Amino acid sequence: MNAFLTRLAYAFFPRRCLYCDRVIRPDQTSCDDCCDTIPRMDGICCPHCGRTKTDCHCRRHKRAYDRLITAMRYERGAKSAILALKKDRDADRIHTMGQEMAAALRAKSDAAPLDIVTFIPMCKKDERKRGYNQSRLLATEVASLLDLPLKPMLKKCFETHSQKGLPWHERSGNVLGAFDVIAPTKGKRILLVDDLATTGCTLNECAKMLKIYGAESVTALTFAATVPKEKTESNEDENSR
Ligand SMILES: [Zn+2]
Ligand SMILES: [Zn+2]
Repeated sequence: MNAFLTRLAYAFFPRRCLYCDRVIRPDQTSCDDCCDTIPRMDGICCPHCGRTKTDCHCRRHKRAYDRLITAMRYERGAKSAILALKKDRDADRIHTMGQEMAAALRAKSDAAPLDIVTFIPMCKKDERKRGYNQSRLLATEVASLLDLPLKPMLKKCFETHSQKGLPWHERSGNVLGAFDVIAPTKGKRILLVDDLATTGCTLNECAKMLKIYGAESVTALTFAATVPKEKTESNEDENSR
């Protein structure tokens, strides 16, 4: 596209800050204010829950996935980005979120090698209602950035209650048996993508199924993970799709 057309397109569809929705320059992904306060999950993180030492509340509870990597703490701008992603499928936003996720994965040099990218599925009815599965959009972006193939490998067999209304101890039971494997997984090293990790129950259930069907390893990757102070207000849950 020539420079004039680019400027014209920008006039009609301005680029917006991922974190606060303010209009930004075409070469930016966030505004100057947000740039300094992006709540990245930096530093050494717990392999079981993906949180930093201060945010980890999993007591090293072993999960079916080999490790969980997350790009952001679910607060401030990262929270706005996830809420916005559920309202519309803005290509710029998805691209920036995917970049953050790929960068978080690359930063963990000890993460397992990968063969294939997949995502947490929605049940058909919910996906039809929204028009898209936001986890699939993120997975597509991440797969292209990592130069790996994307493949739907799971399906959601029945509708589950929204996890948000359930006490934490009932959440794993709520998703038990809700997912089935629909593609060959034997010997595959899989990257399982979702937008948000709260308790990790949905990721755990999906990873468990992939492993039962022979996956060699499952690395979970999410854009954000709730942190302790958000626990009580985690109104957006990995399963409230
Ligand atoms: Zn901003
Ligand atoms: Zn932990």
